Amino acid sequence: MIVVMGLGHTKQQLNHLVAMVEKMGLSTHIIYGTDRTVVAAVGDKRMVDKSALENVPGVEKIVPILAPYKVASKEVKREKTVISLQPSGAKIGSDTISVIAGPCSVEDRGRLLDTAEVIKQAGAVGLRGGAFKPRSSPYSFQGLAEKGLEYLAEAREKTGLTVVTEVMTVKHVDLISRYADVIQIGARNMQNFMLLQAVGEQSKPVLLKRGMSATMEEFLLAAEYIINAGNPNVILCERGIRTFEEYCRNTLALSLIPAIQRVSHLPIIVDPSHGTGHVYLVEPMCLAAVAAGAEGLIVEVHPDPEHAFSDPGQQLSPEQFQQTMTKIARVAAAVDKKL
Ligand code: PEP
Ligand code: MN
Repeated sequence: MIVVMGLGHTKQQLNHLVAMVEKMGLSTHIIYGTDRTVVAAVGDKRMVDKSALENVPGVEKIVPILAPYKVASKEVKREKTVISLQPSGAKIGSDTISVIAGPCSVEDRGRLLDTAEVIKQAGAVGLRGGAFKPRSSPYSFQGLAEKGLEYLAEAREKTGLTVVTEVMTVKHVDLISRYADVIQIGARNMQNFMLLQAVGEQSKPVLLKRGMSATMEEFLLAAEYIINAGNPNVILCERGIRTFEEYCRNTLALSLIPAIQRVSHLPIIVDPSHGTGHVYLVEPMCLAAVAAGAEGLIVEVHPDPEHAFSDPGQQLSPEQFQQTMTKIARVAAAVDKKL
């Protein structure tokens, strides 16, 4: 980091600052400019609380050079992380787009098994479906809990699809990791640090959704918690952020895809269903996400969207999903990828 000294600072203040920085384990180089003095602090400052230096008398500002995230960063690992999904064998982060699809919530056995067949036929590699649902209202359908996990496991047996489902509490991590192939952390829990730690301590890949008001830096720091706890297999998922806009449920930030890929080796996929909240926006955003470099998609599909127990307005019908997959394959080919 660079410490910029204020105009009129004293020699004692500079010496004091230098001593403080060195006590933090960093080495210092003082650069005397024509009207400014700056101190370059060299070493890994990620463990250093820069606000401690901001308050030192004579200091004007601190300019960080390295990103605060480390193990999620390309500075530490240059090659892309490719995550193999079981049992489908899909590789997220490769030149093949991985599509995960399925209902918002697991509602009943028959409809889940039918949906799994349809999405598999259309080319999906993963089956999504919430068994434990984070609902804004306590009066809304909360999910089938373990019964829902059993149906998901049965659908996996029948289709070979990778099962992706959400965990909402540390208490359920063992249970969910017994049934799921990928554990989802929902937007509302992106900064539930205990939960991030707990999914980091088990071995299934983690699908980490961006919090609805999280910056890219906070998103990557959340991934960092999981990796630091022992699990390197983190799939990032852009799912829209809260803005002033009202025509859509969230504002889908597709520019996050290349922005993440510039600084991180982790794969990033997009959820255009929660990202927009409306069926008519889902297909265009699937295509745009793939064109922008997303490694995959997670899309809500329901056999009878109108009567869905949750998110009826944003779930594609099986026919709509099939048509969208055909177009995704074309866009994938245009960016030298496969579906
Ligand atoms: C979901 O995918 O089921 C979900 C609740 O999404 P999010 O956490 O992005 O709101
Ligand atoms: Mn949903």
